[in-house]
Amino acid sequence: DSMLIVDAFRQEVASQGIEEQIDIVRTGCFGLCELGPVVIIYPEEVFYSRVTLEDVAEIVEDHLLKGQIVERLVYEASIEDGAIKPLQEVDFFRKQMRIALRNCGLIDPEEIEEYIAMGGYKGLHKVLTMFKPDDVVRQVKESGLRGRGGGGFPTGVKWETAARQRNPQKYIICNADEGDPGAFMDRSILEGDPHAVLEGMAIAGYAIGANQGFIYVRAEYPIAVKRIQLAIRQAREYGLLGNKLFGTDFSFDVDVRLGAGAFVCGEETALMNSVEGRRGMPNPKPPFPAVSGLWEKPTIINNVETLANIPQILLNGPAWYAGIGTDKSKGTKVFALGGKVVNTGLVEVPMGITLREVIYEIGGGIPGGKAFKAVQTGGPSGGCLTTEHLDRQIDYDTLLSLGSMMGSGGMLVMDEETCMVDVARYYLDFTRDESCGKCVPCRVGTKRLLEILDKITEGKGTMEDLDKLEELSEQIKAASLCGLGQTAPNPVLSTLKYFRDEYVAHVVDKK
Ligand code: SF4
Repeated sequence: DSMLIVDAFRQEVASQGIEEQIDIVRTGCFGLCELGPVVIIYPEEVFYSRVTLEDVAEIVEDHLLKGQIVERLVYEASIEDGAIKPLQEVDFFRKQMRIALRNCGLIDPEEIEEYIAMGGYKGLHKVLTMFKPDDVVRQVKESGLRGRGGGGFPTGVKWETAARQRNPQKYIICNADEGDPGAFMDRSILEGDPHAVLEGMAIAGYAIGANQGFIYVRAEYPIAVKRIQLAIRQAREYGLLGNKLFGTDFSFDVDVRLGAGAFVCGEETALMNSVEGRRGMPNPKPPFPAVSGLWEKPTIINNVETLANIPQILLNGPAWYAGIGTDKSKGTKVFALGGKVVNTGLVEVPMGITLREVIYEIGGGIPGGKAFKAVQTGGPSGGCLTTEHLDRQIDYDTLLSLGSMMGSGGMLVMDEETCMVDVARYYLDFTRDESCGKCVPCRVGTKRLLEILDKITEGKGTMEDLDKLEELSEQIKAASLCGLGQTAPNPVLSTLKYFRDEYVAHVVDKK
């Protein structure tokens, strides 16, 4: 739809003879998915939502030619007392802080000049001309950045381990195998600002001494794949990838590897097996990839969002980044806000913000005047939080202590009508399906768990089954080989902890 609308604008502007005065820029995701397709007219920042092909002529004629706002299409939250508010003052954006998403929705991701005009590749230039690799590692450590793919491991510490290895061949991998149901953070960054990821990879390459990077992206993301491939070609043409970058001795290039959509390939060792052409199954760790990774060479695997933050950290300095967020969780986090919430979309917020602020102030609350019941963070590895947690802050450690996790950034809101046993069953069905089958606790355990949940949802479960669910979940967590199995029971355990009454309501021998 959006492509057709862009074409219609081009035709309409040309037929009105104003193509010289009007730039039509197709951008990546602006964040407010709920209201798409979105058209923003600059410089006055008029925000038109849910634009259709039929609306195009009216916008061009009334707004662009006569300077009259088409009121019926303006996003109502962007008007106050008849005046247009700057976008940063609109509720959806007011509490956001866009670092990883800084260019998404603003620039044409298919034009490298637009990225450069926004200060793109300045971070890389600064790093290559002013810092030694060790300085870069130190600065990333000082920034406090932790991996945004889910684990939350300090990025600088990981880089330091790889930088210390004496091997002349090292690799950088960008993990773009985003697979959580409801998550689209990485996809949006790759589609909206692919050069930010390439620049982050080149900086990481310089820091650890790698001259080759790979982006492992799932083939189900065709627009992301197309744009990252185009970005690589353009960066090579501009001498921003390839030999002797900015006239230095540092050379770095990037290739794309396509994944076939297996959730387990987001796990580092499975991902590397897949890149090497083998079946994507995890291996035991250690050795850790930073010591012996791709083709047994030291390898850094960072996720898309982590890498998109890197150029800004080096450009603005680690103290700037460390000044955002909480004591142990620095910076911002991108969330895919979905489910029963008014403003579904992509949001980037400083760590430490509360769940209530994200769900009610940014998300606009629950549709239809219904009551909030729970929010699931961390996708199939995470857990459900309840009303009592709404005022808790979002950071790695708080979410873990409450029985959920940050994960890669899925945030699914549920209202009073959602059955929490169904929610647990949904996630478990997903992980059972995605289990690679290599180890018994996960392969067989998730199947058995699902059978018990089926029994309960069919109204045939007993109180004993609830105990079995708990016992088996703990065993699967303790004995599984990789993160998929180790976290698969989390949605069951957290719903059992906070919504046990709903399970009890399903069983036949309620006590
Ligand atoms: Fe495969 Fe599950 Fe074992 Fe991981 S825990 S290796 S996904 S079977």
